Amino acid sequence: MQSILRIDMTELAATFESVPEKYLQRAGRWLTSSIVFDEVPPTCHSLGPNNKVVIAAGIVSGTAAPSSARVSVGAKSPLTGTIKESNAGTAFAHMLARLRIKAIIVEGKPAEKDKYWTIKIDKDGVKFVPADEYVGMKLGSAYESLFRQHGDVSHTSILGIGTAGEYRLGSAGVCFNDMKGRATRYSGRGGMGAVLGSKGLKFIILDDTDAPGVEIANKELFDQGRKKLAEALTSHAITKPKGALNAYGTAVLVNIINEAGGLPTRNFRSGRFEGAAKVAGEAIFEINKERTGKEVYNHACSPGCIIQCSNTLYRRDGSEHVSCVEYESDWAFGPNCGIDDLDTIADLINRCNEYGLDTIEIGGTIAVAMEGGLANFGDGKRALELVDEIGTGTPLGRVLGSGAVTTGRVLGVERVPAVKGQNMPAYEPRAIKGIGMTYAVSTMGADHTSGYTIATEVLGVAGEADPLEKKKVEMTRGFQYATAFIDSSGHCLFIAFAILDIPSGFDGMVDECNGILGTHWTGDDVVRIGKEIIGIEKAFNRGAGFTAANDRLPEFMSREPLPPHNAVWDISNDDLDSILG
Ligand code: SF4
Repeated sequence: MQSILRIDMTELAATFESVPEKYLQRAGRWLTSSIVFDEVPPTCHSLGPNNKVVIAAGIVSGTAAPSSARVSVGAKSPLTGTIKESNAGTAFAHMLARLRIKAIIVEGKPAEKDKYWTIKIDKDGVKFVPADEYVGMKLGSAYESLFRQHGDVSHTSILGIGTAGEYRLGSAGVCFNDMKGRATRYSGRGGMGAVLGSKGLKFIILDDTDAPGVEIANKELFDQGRKKLAEALTSHAITKPKGALNAYGTAVLVNIINEAGGLPTRNFRSGRFEGAAKVAGEAIFEINKERTGKEVYNHACSPGCIIQCSNTLYRRDGSEHVSCVEYESDWAFGPNCGIDDLDTIADLINRCNEYGLDTIEIGGTIAVAMEGGLANFGDGKRALELVDEIGTGTPLGRVLGSGAVTTGRVLGVERVPAVKGQNMPAYEPRAIKGIGMTYAVSTMGADHTSGYTIATEVLGVAGEADPLEKKKVEMTRGFQYATAFIDSSGHCLFIAFAILDIPSGFDGMVDECNGILGTHWTGDDVVRIGKEIIGIEKAFNRGAGFTAANDRLPEFMSREPLPPHNAVWDISNDDLDSILG
C-alpha cells in the first residue's frame, strides 16, 4: 500500500498518510500539480510558509519499464508566480516508488532562519539530521561526503539544493545524483530549489534497502507493454543504441536547429551561430575520440534507461571535464552567449551544477547581462566570473540569480526573451512557430518541454511541418496534452520520438500504465488525462492572477526580424487563446 509522506518543516515532523481516493491513479506531474492546486493558495508568496513542494515519481517508476526513472518536483514558482512542475531522470525516482511513497509534501517554514536540515528516509521511517556543515558547500563535494556517510548509489539517492537555493534565487534548481553519484541531474526550471531553501530543507536522502517495491496489478500486461516500448525505443533512429541521442547526446540538435535558422544566438539576435559546428554533439564525439583514443557512446542518467543520451566531455589529458553537456546547457552558454569553446561551456555548466543553478535560466541571464553591457558576447572568462558572483551570493550575483527578467529590468534591457518570467530555451520562436506557441501558452512560462513541437517541425517525427508555417494550434495543443501524460507516467520525454512514430510503442506505454494501475486506458485517455492536468494548472494560474494577456511573447519579437529568415513573431492572439482555451 502506498502512502503520502508529509514533512512539516515548522515542527520538524513527518507523517505517513493514506492516499486519498482521488489521487490513487495520479503520479508524477499529474499528482504534483493536483496537490499544489488542492493545498497551496495560488496568491501565497512562493517563499512563504503556505507554499508547498511536492515530490512524486511517475506511474511506472521503480519498475523495469524502460527509461522510467523520472521524478517530478512541483510548487508555486518564485520565478514565474505560476504553478510549476520540473522533472529529472535519477535513481531517486525508482527508490521513492520502491519505498511505496507516492508523494513527499514539504510544507511550513522553520522559525530559525538559515538553519538547514537533511531528511533521511528508509523503509523504517524518517529522520531529521542537521545539515549545517553543508551550508555554503559546493554540491559535488557535499554529495561525495553524503554518499560516504549514507551508502553507495546502489541503494542510496540524494535530492539537494546548492548555495543558489540557500539564497532563494529564482534560478535555483533541485539537484539529484546520476548513476555514478555525481550531483548533476536537475529539476532545473522555475526556482524549485529556492522554495526548498525557504523551508530550510537542504537534502533528502533515500535508502531503498529491503524496500517493498512497486505493486503491479497485472504483471502480464505490464510486461507486454514494456517489451513493446523497448522494441520501439531500440529500433527508432533517434533513440536506438548508437543512434542520434546515444552517439551525440541532445547536443546533436545544435547543427540541426542552426541549419533550420532557429538557434538563438547572442541573446536571440540571430537564428544562426557561426560557431555552431564547434559546440555541436558531433564535435563532442570527435573531441572525446581524440582525447581518450576511442569512440565514446553516451550513458544513462538513471537506472533502466535504454536510450542513454547523457554524454561526458573529456579534457585533453583524458580526465572527465563535465557530465553532461545537454543541448540546452550547451546552447545557453554557447551560441546564446556567443561562446564557441566547449571547454569554457563545460566550466560554466560545472559551476551551475556546483552552485545548484538552472543552466537555461543562467545562460539566458548572462546573455541579457551581455546585452546590458556587463560583458561582451563571446567573453567566456567574464561569464565565469558572473556565474561565480551568483554562486557566492554577491549583491550583483543576487540580481543575476533572480533570472533574466530581473536582470533586464535592473540593466534597462528591453530585449529579454521570456514568458511569464522564465527565459526561453534553445529554440527561436520566430523561426519555429509551433514552439513559440508552446512558450506563449504553457502553464509553466517559456518551456520547450511543455510541448515539444520541434519533433515534427524540425525532426520529422509524427509527420512533417514547415517551421515557419503558422497554422499549428492543434499540433501545439496535442503535444502539450501528450507531454502532460508522459510527465505523469514516469517516462523520460525522449520516448516521445519513438512512440509518436511507432504505434506499438505508444500502445506499450499505455499497457505499462494499465498493468501497474489495473486500469483500461486507451489513447483517448492519454489525451483526456493530459487535458485534465493542464486544466488543473491553468486553474491554479488563474487564481494567481494570470490571464490571456500573460500568454504572449515579448513585444520585440513582433518588431525585430530574425536572420536568416527575417521572420517576426506573427501568431495572432486569437490563435494563441484557442490553443488551451
Ligand atoms: S533518455 Fe537521456 S535524459 Fe532521458 S532518462 Fe535516458 S539518459 Fe536520462
